[in-house]
Amino acid sequence: MTNTGHLILIVEDEPQIRHFLRTTLTAEGYRVIEAENGQRGALEAATHKPDLVMVDLGLPDLDGVEVVKRIRAWSALPILILSARSAEAEKVAALDAGADDYVTKPFGVGELTARIRVALRHAAHGANQDAAGTLRFGNIEVDLQRRLVRSDGKDVHLTPIEFRLLGCLAKHAGMVLTHRHLLREVWGPSHVDQSHYLRIYMKQLRHKLEPDPARPRFLLTETGVGYRLASE
Ligand code: CA
Repeated sequence: MTNTGHLILIVEDEPQIRHFLRTTLTAEGYRVIEAENGQRGALEAATHKPDLVMVDLGLPDLDGVEVVKRIRAWSALPILILSARSAEAEKVAALDAGADDYVTKPFGVGELTARIRVALRHAAHGANQDAAGTLRFGNIEVDLQRRLVRSDGKDVHLTPIEFRLLGCLAKHAGMVLTHRHLLREVWGPSHVDQSHYLRIYMKQLRHKLEPDPARPRFLLTETGVGYRLASE
């Protein structure tokens, strides 16, 4: 196993899902602790200081969002949400409360472990940025300091807003960012409800950067939640 035995806390009330997660993550070389409700989860997080926490949103005692808030009150450790497919509003609330990403049930092993790797790597290194401040994903390079973007080695002209939006996604490559998060970072706190700005500018970015803008490979839509820049 290539990973270094990171400790992962699973906060989930369904025994079958806990069992599946424990088996899968142990086989990947992670160490696992479990909590079957929210109170216990918040307590175990504070006691064991795991490297990452996975929190189910549908818990019997506390709301999963509340568990995220309790952990965020004292720690920046990566938090992944486990949620049902239909629960967009809850996912958004958990992300805006400080969760880093989510996995939708039922999830595959590949998706689960990719999300975990991205979150752990991001917690360890910030972004996947080289010494010169250049971020790379697929055929796209973003030089944050010189504010240059290249696609297949060719310079791409971006407006200042497009660059800020791409830079924000690139700094969190592989992770979902909510509409509110992006609007606050790019346009400022008074524009967090202007989702149409995002739709317009994401469309422009896709036209400038994606080989087939109608079927984006990098600038992905997370329906009802936000956007993600694919990193693997
Ligand atoms: Ca549950």
